[in-house]
Amino acid sequence: MLSFSKKVKEELLNKPSKSRHCALAEIAAYINLCGDFSLYEGILAIHCEDDKILNNVKTLIEEFFHCKVITSETSILIKDKKLVGDIVHATGVKNKYKEYLGPVIDPMVVNMLCCKRAYIKAAFLCSGSVSDPEKGYHLEFVNSSYEHARQLCSLLEQFGVSPKQIERKGHFVVYFKEGEQIVDVLNIISAHSSLLQVENSRVLKEMRNNVNRKVNCETANINKIVSASLRQTEAIKYIQKNMGLDNLPVNLKQMALIRMEYPDMSLKELGSKLDPPIGKSGVNHRLGKLCEIAEQLKGV
Ligand SMILES: [Zn+2]
Repeated sequence: MLSFSKKVKEELLNKPSKSRHCALAEIAAYINLCGDFSLYEGILAIHCEDDKILNNVKTLIEEFFHCKVITSETSILIKDKKLVGDIVHATGVKNKYKEYLGPVIDPMVVNMLCCKRAYIKAAFLCSGSVSDPEKGYHLEFVNSSYEHARQLCSLLEQFGVSPKQIERKGHFVVYFKEGEQIVDVLNIISAHSSLLQVENSRVLKEMRNNVNRKVNCETANINKIVSASLRQTEAIKYIQKNMGLDNLPVNLKQMALIRMEYPDMSLKELGSKLDPPIGKSGVNHRLGKLCEIAEQLKGV
């Protein structure tokens, strides 16, 4: 079965960026997260295990830079010094072997809101994952550099979400743990049908919780009725044995017989069985009286 992560990614891949500025932001994200280059040697490599995503990177670069890109099974390798220079210059990406001269994510490349979304979308495609909402809420981006993780966080924060960060096995993970925030992130990257799936599971979960709460509440009520009924029938049996029901006033005797006959009836229902019928509080009063008589007989 297709994992939820894969589903989200398929949805994203089916909606490629339409404008050149957004396409450039996407290429920058791919290089920053899973690429490496040497301007001196004129080599740019982008590595990705997923062939559909790799194909997407290839198409983006080919269309933007009007070139032909060769891909192997899991990577793109560009060995054209001028082309590598053009790509590096346009995307504003920084080489990880050199000291950082500025931010990893070039502010010019993600200047517009649409481009910020495009950058985050590509970052999710090549470094992100999200767990099945039926199983739990977790969405993350795995960064190889601390600086990139920090800047990705501030990009995300501009959309009003609050990512958390943690270091895991030498990687810097930017993550979300709340359903609501995950819905927001899926909205930022325009994964709308996946978003609906998370929302549906959230609504279902909430409904299930409410139903459970209600059932627990009803069970508690039933328990209360049963234990009250037990107490009353015991009292009546005690009276029957030690005094005889015939010695009770007529209205109490009638009450006692009806209670014995219908041990699991509510007070209201019991009242309707009496002749003439009486209300809930009247029934309550008579049953209370019976319990009192039994207590007196016991000498308590
Ligand atoms: Zn744009």
